[in-house]
Amino acid sequence: MASSSSSTVSKTTLREDLTCAICYDLFTEPVMLGCMHHFCKRCITAYWRSLRGPALCPQCRQEFPNKSFQTNYLVAGLVEKVKASSSAGYLKSLEKRLKDHLDSQKLRKEEIITMIREEEKQMDTIKKVGAELQDRVRSDFQALHHFLQVEEAAVLQQMRRDQEVLVQSLGRHLESLHAAVQELEQNLSAIQQAASSVSCSALVELPEFNSRPQLQVRRQDIDAFRSKYIIPLQYTMWRKMFKSLRPGPLPLTFDEDTVHPSLQLSRDRTQVVENEAMLTYRRNPKRFVQCVNVLATQGFQTGRYYWEVGVGTKPKWDLGVALETVDRQARVKLCPENGYWTLRLRNGCNYSAGTQPWTPLPISSRPQRIGIFIDFEVHMVSFYNADDMRLLYSFSNGPKEKAFPFFSTCLSEPGQQPQPIHLLHFPIYSL
Ligand SMILES: [Zn+2]
Ligand SMILES: [Zn+2]
Repeated sequence: MASSSSSTVSKTTLREDLTCAICYDLFTEPVMLGCMHHFCKRCITAYWRSLRGPALCPQCRQEFPNKSFQTNYLVAGLVEKVKASSSAGYLKSLEKRLKDHLDSQKLRKEEIITMIREEEKQMDTIKKVGAELQDRVRSDFQALHHFLQVEEAAVLQQMRRDQEVLVQSLGRHLESLHAAVQELEQNLSAIQQAASSVSCSALVELPEFNSRPQLQVRRQDIDAFRSKYIIPLQYTMWRKMFKSLRPGPLPLTFDEDTVHPSLQLSRDRTQVVENEAMLTYRRNPKRFVQCVNVLATQGFQTGRYYWEVGVGTKPKWDLGVALETVDRQARVKLCPENGYWTLRLRNGCNYSAGTQPWTPLPISSRPQRIGIFIDFEVHMVSFYNADDMRLLYSFSNGPKEKAFPFFSTCLSEPGQQPQPIHLLHFPIYSL
């Protein structure tokens, strides 16, 4: 608004500046006198003709020795511009330009309003997602807190019980000692009485000491009590807690019914490596026969699961999840559309996500262990560098039906020593 009113002011001033003080119209053939005032050539000539005396400026009354003036082409040009800008054609085109401008501004406004609505919707989505995540994080921490609270209460309760047993035992011992003292005192007085009357009676019956103080609470019992609770308590609890993690790292095994005949499984089915020759195998629709793949024995359909795979410095592999229904007899591209959610490594340093086309991932950390997490509630499959638990990639369109952990050793390059893939088991599970 400010710029449009200031341009109106400057235009009015310009028009006034270009107006002849004699005819009050825009200059026609403007000329400049020695005093720098301008007039139409025709107006000043007529004015001077009507004068009897010397030539003078009708504006400032300065006198001049002769009736001379200078044509001012600059002012003449400005006058032409102002006249042109006031012409009907110009005004019409200006009007059209303004209308076009108005229309385009209206359109732009509509576009921006649509953008605002969309962003407001996104804002709501972010808030909703944030609230859901908060609930999720809280509930995970609550589970940990709850575990610790229950364990703490149990340890303290057991400790109080143990303490009570010791106290009661010591109490009973004290009671029996007091009883013994009392008995001894009675005996003492009986003996004293007997001693004082020993001259009058030959028959003196000496009292017997009958009290049998119960077993004493030994120093060892107190030491045992102390050493039962002076322990690496946090580690002990952490080990218990590890087993209660939901999800904690699953101890998976390879499924020998699915393994490609060129792959060799270890006896405990936690390690797979390429074999030089094809091994004999039972025909079976579950077996991969085109690509050097294998699945885990454990499949999932609901819930949340996490497992870790040791890849060491192996330069090539594909890891992830495959639907139970994938065609094991065909050679297919690994992508969610074909029932595979995978992370892959080639040439020891090129990581990519199994989309079509591949999504290259800028991973420079060269993880030796890969963590894979599947959440059926939110249909997500995520990959982590299990060395530091940094997220590597996440699919948000994960499986909606039964799926199995998937592994491909890939074929080694000629001359390269095949390296195995390990299913990592944590010894803590068996403790
Ligand atoms: Zn004039
Ligand atoms: Zn003048």
